[in-house]
Amino acid sequence: MKITYCKKCIIPETRPNTEIGTDGLCSGCRYYFYRDKIDWDKRKKDFFEIIKKYKNNNNFNHDCVIPASGGKDSTYQVLKVLELGLKPLVITISTDWLTKIGRQNIENIKSFGVDFLEFTPNKKVRKKINKFALQTVGDITWTEEMAISCSITRLAIKMDIPLVIWGENSENENGGPEKNSDFLEGVVQKHNQEWFEEFGGTNGLRSSDILFAWKDRGIAEKDLIPYKFPTAEEFGNKKVDGIFLGYFFPWDGKKNAEIAIENGFKTYDSWVEGNIVNYENLDNYLMRIHDYFKFLKYGYDRVSDWSSLQIRRGRLSREEAITLSREHGGKYPKEYLGKSLKEILNYIDMSQDEFDQLCFKFTNKKIFEKNTDGSLKLDNSGNLIKLNYDNK
Ligand SMILES: [Zn+2]
Repeated sequence: MKITYCKKCIIPETRPNTEIGTDGLCSGCRYYFYRDKIDWDKRKKDFFEIIKKYKNNNNFNHDCVIPASGGKDSTYQVLKVLELGLKPLVITISTDWLTKIGRQNIENIKSFGVDFLEFTPNKKVRKKINKFALQTVGDITWTEEMAISCSITRLAIKMDIPLVIWGENSENENGGPEKNSDFLEGVVQKHNQEWFEEFGGTNGLRSSDILFAWKDRGIAEKDLIPYKFPTAEEFGNKKVDGIFLGYFFPWDGKKNAEIAIENGFKTYDSWVEGNIVNYENLDNYLMRIHDYFKFLKYGYDRVSDWSSLQIRRGRLSREEAITLSREHGGKYPKEYLGKSLKEILNYIDMSQDEFDQLCFKFTNKKIFEKNTDGSLKLDNSGNLIKLNYDNK
């Protein structure tokens, strides 16, 4: 087998929801280049029109909810929304296992002068689900993505705030289906149940599957509330709309990081393991394993993502990106943000043997080099080697 990569960036066709067109460009590149044609002044006006509809003018409540993990993007989101004159309620859904630096960055957002709510789903239950999701769908941080979409919407209903302002629509820069990107003029994408079910990261695992497997082992239906999208009944007559800030204002993760850093955001003291920057994914000790499994399943990782974003913006050549990706991408996770793999696996009560077996189970054997006997080939450091990196 040969992997086809986008001819402009280094995103492979194996990435879920990515489409490489007859022009050789991935959907992420196509949407990015479309940005030149966007009338951003008009989109800014559209933003204020939408805000007018939702803004609380009677001083009883906040104007919107801002979901904030404390990362560079959400730090930027909060700053931007304050600059736009809104009074947000900032909500953090605690990550699977919050890091020290993640805590500092949450406290940093609080220092901007906003009302802030932290919601921490039951940690005992969550660890069990982390383990189960890694075993069944190869996604150790399933709870994280579920809890963000589901619990934020749930809390917005409860707090009676009808507007949630999300960051970037992941289907733009990552290149999802056209109808779900911001490619189409005048179609404001909504973060709603439909979007959640398709792109929210469910990975085919439903909370009912967890309940079925664990109901006799300490997980009850009510334990799964944070991971369930509210039903129509729960919405009642309340409406919660989710819009993406990136539709109205050009989104640039690197610039967001620069703005965040100017405003007190702490970065790591070296490149984050599995990445080639010091400012991404600083808040969850489990994230490295999540990213590594994406590499095993689909052949892309943080390095290819980040590089592709920079290629589109003219900050990196495709050749440089391939070199970076070869040298730094797809490595077996030995540690993350100061915690060893052993400590991370201990957290979910898993042995390294089982972990290695799961790595093998979820590896897409078609996209890595093999030895003559058909076994997976490893480089001198014990890492898998992705096929035809350079599209040849
Ligand atoms: Zn591309």
